[in-house]
Amino acid sequence: MLTWLVGARLLVITILTMAASGIKLECGDEICLIDAGSPPPPDQARYDHYRIYNVQFDNQEQIELFQKLEDQSDSLTFIGHAREIGQKLSILVAAHRVADFADLLKTYKLKHRVLTYNFQEKIDRNMGEVLPESIDATQYDWQHFFHLKTIYGWMDVMAKKYPDLLTVLDMGKSTQGHAIKGIKLASKPDNKAIFIESGIHAREWIAPATATYIINELLTSQDAGVQKLAKNFNWIIFPCVNPDGYKYTFEHDRMWRKNRQLFGTCRGVDLNRNYPDHWNSTGSSSDPTRYDFAGPSAGSELETQCLLQFIRSNVQKEQIKTYIALHSYSQMLMFPYGYTKERVSNYDDLQEFGKKAAAAIKAESGRDYVSGSLYETIYPSSGGSMDWAHEEAGIPIAYTFELRGPPDSQDLFILPAVEIQPTASEAFTAIRTIVEAADEKGYYN
Ligand SMILES: [Zn+2]
Repeated sequence: MLTWLVGARLLVITILTMAASGIKLECGDEICLIDAGSPPPPDQARYDHYRIYNVQFDNQEQIELFQKLEDQSDSLTFIGHAREIGQKLSILVAAHRVADFADLLKTYKLKHRVLTYNFQEKIDRNMGEVLPESIDATQYDWQHFFHLKTIYGWMDVMAKKYPDLLTVLDMGKSTQGHAIKGIKLASKPDNKAIFIESGIHAREWIAPATATYIINELLTSQDAGVQKLAKNFNWIIFPCVNPDGYKYTFEHDRMWRKNRQLFGTCRGVDLNRNYPDHWNSTGSSSDPTRYDFAGPSAGSELETQCLLQFIRSNVQKEQIKTYIALHSYSQMLMFPYGYTKERVSNYDDLQEFGKKAAAAIKAESGRDYVSGSLYETIYPSSGGSMDWAHEEAGIPIAYTFELRGPPDSQDLFILPAVEIQPTASEAFTAIRTIVEAADEKGYYN
């Protein structure tokens, strides 16, 4: 009896302990499953106590050291590459490398600042600014960030509301089978068209938010100048040209940048290095583990092919004369080329329009945006959509915008939702300035 009691008590304790730790217990026919524990945590990347360092390179030795460091370590996320003396570079340092990294900075006497001590706090705050996927798409606004489903739902809502002006477009399917949806806003069939692409880099959430803001402004603004833009130009806008990556940033890793194509042990091509224009010649990688992996070949990715095909079959038909790609961050308005320091044939015009746009932003919000060719403004890179649009598709006005924050941002790509409205407004002001200036020069005749 006593033995039985002790045995039974032990069994109960064992079951309770296992249940508390969430272990499923299978024991014969009578008792099947015990699962009283809390569900396991989601499969989500975390950045607790990751730090953002901003380092400055004062000599060649430091540059070479950091080039080596970038090659060696996947615990350090470089935002750009070490290239030149005087350059400042932000690096996200994994928690377990902080001591090691700080020692390196001291040993090689690098000037630096710590911009953020716990990156996860930024992400947690940011995730709190996302409205649930289950909401009705009519609740879409520019005070929150939204899932892909809500963005697409909102586009459908707007198309129903403005049936004479708006058409929903479908460019094709992504690697994981998601539609790449956009809209066409057309007042007159003969208008010249402006094409806007955003979200090619998944983690740059401000870009799709800005694209939808622009759609909304064109449809609802009371400003006579904006109404004129909506009437005299047709607008083709694809807010999310990397839907798989965008979804992944909400569900698994806020810092994901590429698409989700599988390469053995790792995933993702940097779609903005995959375009068939001087592909993989500079500022990209042949290594699938890298954030700027150019892909196995030029135009290898489904998302790239969708966009190539759309532009090729519409550039003449729709008279697309302007191509804008929205990215973040660094506050830059850049035009081709990215792959070479050689100048495009209309360099002076693009420089002039870019400078006017930067001045318009300064007047609106006081923010400093820099304008110049992509090569000379941010860093050399090849296989980008803008270079392809300008050089291969022959679209004369082509820009890549890096939206807020500043180059030494403490938030990196995790821009607070309160900045959506002013950032999007700045971007639209810049586009408006560029289009009006180009119009004056006869680009749309
Ligand atoms: Zn980007």
